Amino acid sequence: MNDILKLEPSKLWKFFYDITQIPHPSKKEKKLIEYIKDFGNKHKLETVVDKAGNVIIRKPATNGMEGKKGVILQAHLDMVPQKNSDKKHDFEKDPIETVIDGEWVRANGTTLGADNGIGVSAALTILSSDNIPHGPLEALFTVDEETGMTGAFWLKKGLLKGDILLNLDSEDEGELYVGCAGGIDVSASREYALERTPDGMTALRIVLKGLKGGHSGVDIALGRANSNKLMSRFLMQAESDFGIRLAELRGGDLRNAIPREATATLVVPEIKLREFTKFVRNYEKMYRAEFAETEPDLSFTASKTQLPPRVMKQGDQYRIIRALFVCPNGVQRMSQSMKGLVETSNNLAIVRCSDGKFEAHCLTRSSVDSAKEATAWKIAAVFHLIDADVNMSGSYPGWKPDMNSPILKTMSEVYRKMYGKIPEIKAIHAGLECGIIGGVYKNLDMISFGPTIRFPHSPDEKVHIPSVKKFFDYLCETLKQIPEK
Ligand SMILES: [Zn+2]
Repeated sequence: MNDILKLEPSKLWKFFYDITQIPHPSKKEKKLIEYIKDFGNKHKLETVVDKAGNVIIRKPATNGMEGKKGVILQAHLDMVPQKNSDKKHDFEKDPIETVIDGEWVRANGTTLGADNGIGVSAALTILSSDNIPHGPLEALFTVDEETGMTGAFWLKKGLLKGDILLNLDSEDEGELYVGCAGGIDVSASREYALERTPDGMTALRIVLKGLKGGHSGVDIALGRANSNKLMSRFLMQAESDFGIRLAELRGGDLRNAIPREATATLVVPEIKLREFTKFVRNYEKMYRAEFAETEPDLSFTASKTQLPPRVMKQGDQYRIIRALFVCPNGVQRMSQSMKGLVETSNNLAIVRCSDGKFEAHCLTRSSVDSAKEATAWKIAAVFHLIDADVNMSGSYPGWKPDMNSPILKTMSEVYRKMYGKIPEIKAIHAGLECGIIGGVYKNLDMISFGPTIRFPHSPDEKVHIPSVKKFFDYLCETLKQIPEK
């Protein structure tokens, strides 16, 4: 018998064990969808699979609980397939091997899938129980949360009937999540003219590297440098003090990562070369001083390179550098409803100037949809001023923290009674399925919580065994305390 089958609550761990035996990486959840569907049919529960592959199971209230508000238990079916380089594992065929390591369950050289397998197991445990009291219940198992939240995006109106949504996909027991950020992609592009490189110039490659980068939402308020911003600031002064001419510029490669590197190829009048080299060194010193705490490994250097035959036309260069320099970036506003939470931010993620084409790509986030749009328009305005085409796409809604939410009140009180303290109330400056589901089902009262999981999305992923029981007991007690309609 597998060791995790001896853990408590035994039914929950039995379901989790089953899930580890069924391959279910993102976008390949078919077998797990079948398993959940069979589960619903076997327990004679109304079971629906929608076009996206999301599974919805309904269970009537237990005796005497019929008058309560309807609750939706939500978890995602897919897991992130990550393994150590020396590990042989086929995520589409092989089961996950589990290992009990002190108070933790982990896998053997792969991700475990406790994110969100424990949430799925908790919902199945309640759906299959005959001794846990609850009101009218639905479970929503979504697909593909990890690589685009497509399940949540495809969820149709009118499928769910519940009033309260309990998302079981958070990773710190004792914390309740009540908000998240929405996002929108903003991109600008335009062509620029090239002209012959003037005489008497020397070419240099300017490289900014060694920055920490990080997640463009969760890490945006940590004071880290954005390589595209530092490079454009340098270029602006280099242009006005030294008359540099830009041949190529590139920085960043992922929209949702703070850019860590930027490279510019430029030419500078030969007679100013010595002075310019000093100027670059001073910039390095200045940037290292400004970011002494957050970017200790920042490096900013110039090295000679081959003279490019052509450079950007002066007028285009003037405008493009300035647009990048003033493009909004970083935290735009802190949340008014929750202390310490970033409400709105932008990441100037990717910049490219080469062969006569300029491109800039941003990811704007906010827990307030109208603030997100205002920031997107501010970015658009900057690039419209230099006659660039601006494209906005991939917009998804945020979830604004509601500190007066009735379910928050109920769950805070239940937690205090059970565990003798008030749970921490949090929100995240990144996308969650709740934001998207709440965008379709406007009146849902939502909360996200879960057991303690460390290092999700990596082969070190592990779940804290005692926290699973605490989380599950808390879920059961919450269901009992759900208010009447
Ligand atoms: Zn998850």
